[in-house]
Amino acid sequence: WYGGWKSDDERGQHMKKIVAKDLVKEYNKKTVLSHVNIEMQGGVYGLLGPNGAGKSTLIGIMVDGIQNYSGEILYGNENIKKLGKDYRKRVGYVPQKQGLYEEFSVLECMNYIAVLKGLKKREVREEITYLLERLHILDVASRKISTLSGGMKQRVLMAQALLGDPDFIILDEPTAMLDPHGRADVMRVLHELNRKEGVTVILITHYMEEVVDA
Ligand code: ADP
Ligand code: MG
Repeated sequence: WYGGWKSDDERGQHMKKIVAKDLVKEYNKKTVLSHVNIEMQGGVYGLLGPNGAGKSTLIGIMVDGIQNYSGEILYGNENIKKLGKDYRKRVGYVPQKQGLYEEFSVLECMNYIAVLKGLKKREVREEITYLLERLHILDVASRKISTLSGGMKQRVLMAQALLGDPDFIILDEPTAMLDPHGRADVMRVLHELNRKEGVTVILITHYMEEVVDA
C-alpha cells in the first residue's frame, strides 16, 4: 500500500539510514500497520496510499510521537527510543493538520518551537529570520497565525520543521491545502533542501508527480 523510491544517484550515502522494522500498530484491535518494513537514506521518498491506509500513523511513529507499537525505528542502527531527544532534534515534522498555536504570532511560534527543540533563543534568531525569508513569510512575522491564509500557515509549518537544521524532514500532505502556486513553492523548497543541503525528505502525498519533481 505504500510506494517509496530513492533518487537515482549516490547523493545522501553519507546520511544515516532510517529504518522501520516490522512495525505493527493496532487501534482497538484493528490493525492499522501490519509488518511494515522500510529503509530510507538521503533521497526523496514518497508515501502514497488511500485515506485510512495508515500513512499518518506510520510517520507519527517515525517522528517518535505515536507510541504503543511493536517493531522498531532505527536511526543509524540505533533504536530511536534509546536516542530519545538526540533523535527528535534531528527530525523536522510537518503534521497533516494545521491549527496549532493559532494565537501566537509567526515569530512567537518559531521561538516556542525552538525552545521545545532545546535550541537557545539567542542562537536561533538569525536562523529564524533566514527561514522566514526563505519561505517568504518574513513580512508576516508579527501576525497572528489565525489571521493567515492556508498557504501562509503551511509555510509556517515548514519553517518550524526546518528549525535546528534537521537531517531529515517528514511532511504529511504538505501541499493538500495549497493552490498550484503554493504547491510549486513548497516543492521548490523541498527540492533545494534535498539537492543542496542533503536533507532526506519523506513526503506523504496524493500526487505521485510531486515526489518525482522533488
Ligand atoms: P492515513 O493518514 O493514511 O489517511 P491514518 O494513519 O490517519 O491514515 O489512519 C489509519 C487508520 O487508523 C484509520 O482507520 C483511522 O481511523 C485509524 N486511526 C488513526 N488514528 C487513530 C486513533 N488515535 N485512534 C483510533 N483509530 C485511529
Ligand atoms: Mg493522514
